[in-house]
Amino acid sequence: MKSLLAFFAKRYIAGTERKDAIEAARRLGSIGILATIDHLGENVKNPSEAQAVADEYLSLLDEIKTSNVDSTVSLKLTHLGLDISNELAEKNAGKIIEKALLHNNFVRFDMEGSAYTQRTIDIFLKLREKHPNVGIAIQSCLYRSRADMELLIKKGASVRLIKGAYKEPPDIAFKDKKDVDKSFEVLMKELLLKGNRPAIATHDLRLINEAIKFVRENNIPKDCFEFQMLLGIKRTLQKKLANEGYRMRVYVPYGKDWLPYTMRRLMERKENVFFVVRNIFD
Ligand SMILES: Cc1cc2nc3c(=O)[nH]c(=O)nc-3n(C[C@H](O)[C@H](O)[C@H](O)COP(=O)(O)OP(=O)(O)OC[C@H]3O[C@@H](n4cnc5c(N)ncnc54)[C@H](O)[C@@H]3O)c2cc1C
Repeated sequence: MKSLLAFFAKRYIAGTERKDAIEAARRLGSIGILATIDHLGENVKNPSEAQAVADEYLSLLDEIKTSNVDSTVSLKLTHLGLDISNELAEKNAGKIIEKALLHNNFVRFDMEGSAYTQRTIDIFLKLREKHPNVGIAIQSCLYRSRADMELLIKKGASVRLIKGAYKEPPDIAFKDKKDVDKSFEVLMKELLLKGNRPAIATHDLRLINEAIKFVRENNIPKDCFEFQMLLGIKRTLQKKLANEGYRMRVYVPYGKDWLPYTMRRLMERKENVFFVVRNIFD
């Protein structure tokens, strides 16, 4: 089963090593697409592991600079010790943001399951008071996101809007896909109008076309926002948007801890589940 998942993961992951991610970012750059590199992993349980993850990000930022690829970095606070303490995650993230600032680079906090939403926003806001080069992700599936977005817009924060990849209970999240999509559309328009360099992160063609129509109608310049997609998904559309002059950034994950990320990609599309199930019984 693990080797079948490893085969499935190849489509979504640059490789296990930092150099694989740099190479993927370079390939994207050659066709006019920007990158954001993520070192895979989450929910680390001891401080030395969290420290090693922070060190890996520091080396990654150095390598992005020396290799001259156009890439920011994305990270998860539980990868940096949030399950151990807020202070540890904040300290580790702070070091990465400071190094990124030195290199004129940018750090985006991914958003994890709802148990971490408030703490991620709190740590983000604290660090952003000191450093302008950090952004956050907000999930349209959560009821609270409207209020969170309003606050983040007021603070001038850069938000990546996503639908949300974690299974959430019905008392806090929309369950019907139509409602998640509707919420995305409402938040997206709000962000495009009032946000600070927002990222519209979806592969949903209807929402992408809606964004394009909306920016045209409201004379929002193409360099004031960007589209983001995941490595291995809708590659033709990524190229098309870049060719049309939109800022297009692709999320490039790498590392040995690829299973949880792969499982989320697997579960968000029934064709992917069928693919794996079919191959188990093949
Ligand atoms: C740049 C980026 C960063 C992200 N960061 C986070 C984060 O920090 N936290 C978080 O919770 N989620 C994150 N996500 C994942 C996101 O929440 C969604 O789970 C994911 O993007 C699928 O939703 P969708 O918007 O593409 O819409 P959907 O309606 O799910 O998909 C639209 C279409 O895209 C294609 N598609 C979608 N998923 C797949 C797949 N796995 N394999 C193949 N085709 C697919 C299909 O054609 C589908 O019809 C991120 C997504 C992107 C693009």
